Amino acid sequence: MSKSQSHPSTTEIYFTLKNNVPGLGSQIIPVVGLGTASPSDRAPETKEAVITAIEKGGLRHIDTAWFYGTEKFIGEALQEVFSRGKVKREDLFITTKVWPVYWDNASESIDISLKDLQLDYVDLVLQHWPLCFPKILKPGSNGNGVPQYIGVPHDSETGEPLVESEKDYLTTYKQLQSIVLDPRDHRVKNIGVSNYPIGYLNKLLSDPDIKITPAINQVEINPQCPQLELAEFCHEKGILMTAYSPMGSSGAPILKLPEIVELAKKYNCSGNDIVISYLIRRGIVVIPRSLNLQRIAKDFQNYILLTDEDVDNINQIGIKTPFRHIDEDFAKSIPGFTGRTKTKAT
Ligand code: NDP
Repeated sequence: MSKSQSHPSTTEIYFTLKNNVPGLGSQIIPVVGLGTASPSDRAPETKEAVITAIEKGGLRHIDTAWFYGTEKFIGEALQEVFSRGKVKREDLFITTKVWPVYWDNASESIDISLKDLQLDYVDLVLQHWPLCFPKILKPGSNGNGVPQYIGVPHDSETGEPLVESEKDYLTTYKQLQSIVLDPRDHRVKNIGVSNYPIGYLNKLLSDPDIKITPAINQVEINPQCPQLELAEFCHEKGILMTAYSPMGSSGAPILKLPEIVELAKKYNCSGNDIVISYLIRRGIVVIPRSLNLQRIAKDFQNYILLTDEDVDNINQIGIKTPFRHIDEDFAKSIPGFTGRTKTKAT
């Protein structure tokens, strides 16, 4: 057996998206994408990260969002890559997301993202959170041109995040559905959700106005937060999962877990290889973030054939001591979140 048969590169693996948009052919998604929620002071470095991911790392999937403030840099990177002629737009899978300040203006949010990305369509748009935030202009923004909204508005007196709980978060998904079902609108190929727990998915799926099942539910998934019940539910409904914060976010704490270190030793590979292979083995798309160009070029490609026992052992980490790394204060109304992280009013 050749090396590539026993260890295919992650860049050769694609999953099929459930597609019930009339007239759209079969849709596939590369199992590894580059995450781009770069720290704001390093956002410009995202350009080089994306170029390296595509040209050296062989990745064909980029995950971004209006909220990350990196779409302009990704747009510049894509233009540079396309200008060399080797990789074309149709070779790539680009995801963006609608942030809760745009909960009732999904179309406007998509236009802003497309302009910054310098693209005329995206492969996937997700509702970023099942939440509605008020639109509050940033200080100094005079409201002319594209309004500059505060991403996470907080009450200036209490410091509490401002969430419009009386508004219907399903509005965003319904707007995305109208866009994707409009035969004259070619801006979006697939739609999905993010940070939806089972109860919220049930509400969405049983709403009489919903005709398109979300293609993806993007949530935190890693060895400390394996999301086994949600994954089973999504699998039954034909919804693919994407794992965000696979390494536990900044500082990559997941890679320091003794079980992951042990498995990396056993297979003579890196901790990144173990985590990425564990998620792919579970049928989950994974979007690790990095601004380290060497890592992007080499460390997200190696697929390790883990055994069922390895996967069970990794799941046990989160079954025994569950821990969610992304637990923002604005999300505490969503089942599964406690809201322990104070979010800056970006
Ligand atoms: P990850 O879990 O991917 O971790 C990223 C961090 O891990 C970076 O700081 C990176 O540093 C570091 N890292 C990776 N490998 C190593 C290593 N071998 N040694 C040391 N450090 C390492 O973080 P994210 O939280 O960013 O999640 C990934 C993506 O998921 C995001 O970028 C975004 O696209 C998406 N996301 C979506 C959310 C949603 O609500 N839908 C929420 C959160 C994230 P370095 O740069 O040095 O490599």
